[in-house]
Amino acid sequence: MERLDKILSNLGRGSRKEVKAMVRNGWVEVNGVTAKKSDMKIDTDNDIIVVDGEEINYREFVYIMMNKPAGYISATFDNYQDTVVDILEPELQAFEPFPIGRLDKDTVGLLLLTNDGKLNHRLISPKNHIDKVYFADIDKAVDDTDVKAFEEGITLEDGYKCMPGKLEILKSDEHGAEVMVTIQEGKFHQVKRMFKTRGKEVVFLKRMEFGGLKLDETLPEGDYRELSNAELKMLK
Ligand code: URA
Repeated sequence: MERLDKILSNLGRGSRKEVKAMVRNGWVEVNGVTAKKSDMKIDTDNDIIVVDGEEINYREFVYIMMNKPAGYISATFDNYQDTVVDILEPELQAFEPFPIGRLDKDTVGLLLLTNDGKLNHRLISPKNHIDKVYFADIDKAVDDTDVKAFEEGITLEDGYKCMPGKLEILKSDEHGAEVMVTIQEGKFHQVKRMFKTRGKEVVFLKRMEFGGLKLDETLPEGDYRELSNAELKMLK
């Protein structure tokens, strides 16, 4: 259920005040009946809204895939720093989306944003075993002992024991390594802290996948698009 004025203002039909005036003038119908109150609750799955004779195609939720650039924090608002929500166009910001989980300010890659709290909850709960796959550059060589330690579950410096993770070595020599890491949790700085316990530092981190959904590599860093229905189905 969603308020009528919120739905119409989200669709750019005017401010809440303007929508109120539209309703007062009798321009808005819900299921064939003239709406009396601008804050009336709409069943977004079933109710039909008509404004000035035109049926409105509305939706309650937005689902956005962003290729997050470095330099932005995973938050909805901040007084001093740019947030990932600041990147979005106003029409999408009007839905009040928030990031699903967090990527560090310097981490790039796949970030999902939505205003669907239920989906957010499902995707960030570790007990649902949602895979998150990262590409990382490491400052030192990585070997099978690291792979094994990830498999067994790394104990972080604060004593927290991580769930088993998968570490795949793409390249490794005396200059450093390129790896893929798969984890199902999202603790603060988790990948960086996991490598730290191995005496190694993550110098570049990019999220490639989330819950089986792959980053659309045609999306330049800093760009975003809404998910297709097929992509959304993968997450739900
Ligand atoms: N792990 C990290 O250390 N940072 C991120 O941004 C994501 C996972």
